[in-house]
Amino acid sequence: MSTTVEQSGKSEQKVSSYRAAVVHDFHSPLSVEQVPAPALEPNQIRVKVEASGLCHTDIHAAHGDWPVKPSPPFVPGHEGVGKVTEVGTHVTEVAVGERVAMPWLGYACGICDYCVSGWETLCLQQKNMGYSIDGGFGEYATAYGHYVVKVPDGVDPFDAAPLTCAGVTTYKAVKVAGTRPTDLVAVFGVGGLGHLGIQYADIAGGHVVAVDLIDEKLELARELGAMYTVNAAKEDPVEAIQKLGGANQAISFAVSPRAFEQAYASLRRGGTLVFVALPADNTVSLPIFETVLNGITVVGSIVGTRTDLREVFELHKEGKTKVIREVRSLDQVNESIEDVEHGRVAARIVFEL
Ligand SMILES: [Zn+2]
Ligand SMILES: [Zn+2]
Repeated sequence: MSTTVEQSGKSEQKVSSYRAAVVHDFHSPLSVEQVPAPALEPNQIRVKVEASGLCHTDIHAAHGDWPVKPSPPFVPGHEGVGKVTEVGTHVTEVAVGERVAMPWLGYACGICDYCVSGWETLCLQQKNMGYSIDGGFGEYATAYGHYVVKVPDGVDPFDAAPLTCAGVTTYKAVKVAGTRPTDLVAVFGVGGLGHLGIQYADIAGGHVVAVDLIDEKLELARELGAMYTVNAAKEDPVEAIQKLGGANQAISFAVSPRAFEQAYASLRRGGTLVFVALPADNTVSLPIFETVLNGITVVGSIVGTRTDLREVFELHKEGKTKVIREVRSLDQVNESIEDVEHGRVAARIVFEL
């Protein structure tokens, strides 16, 4: 339900309610229903969502899997992309009609040590889209003007959606890994995240070795720039990667602690292991002796900043990345979650709103 208001030449669409996929409790399927549109705070904007990707984090949110749980009822989604229809009185950075992305980092304080040193993703005051604030699984979403990122013309909103989390997360992981030309980069897991991680490691000049359990995914990895592939169901990835000289960096996008341990063991001396995926089983076992003697770095990487996302969109606009995705209707949200959980999806599901 919406009405059009003429304001300084641009037509603002006022909305009172909209359809969204709502989590009412952690043990029931999502319910697609009409929800009221909250009043805008002065620094907020309303966005008419065009495309919204389904990330594994949304599934963890809907199931209440993590130590810090969201509070139902809430609307998941942190890959929402759409056009601004309303702006709060203090918003100057975006205007009605512009296309924006609404990432996981929905709000940060802007003044703490993390925020002012380029680590806004570590801000303790942060709010997260689709977790602590309603997200992109709706016809509309409310976001903070400072924390959305403009989607450049020429970037398809259905590509922009997966780039908003999967893209920026893997791009940042490659940055954190410190990949330089000719480095051997082991990418564990070729899914929604990994298929993009391979491309960013390749763009950084790395020689990518992709590891997965499914041959079709490894074929895709080769198409996207992987120089080598290893099917870990058929051969030992540690042995295979050590035979190539060992990885300078290994990045774990696979939701299995075993993959993290294999990624560690595939490193050469001085190598870096980057933790990205968040398996439900929260513990890995790594040896202290080898870590010390081999000078290994282990580092966690969480999403990316607004600057990282701008760079991700820029690379895509230049035609340097390819997003593998499948478009579905929001009414298919529950079966889509099941498909992702059972590994029946090639890369990323994007809902059309
Ligand atoms: Zn995500
Ligand atoms: Zn902060």
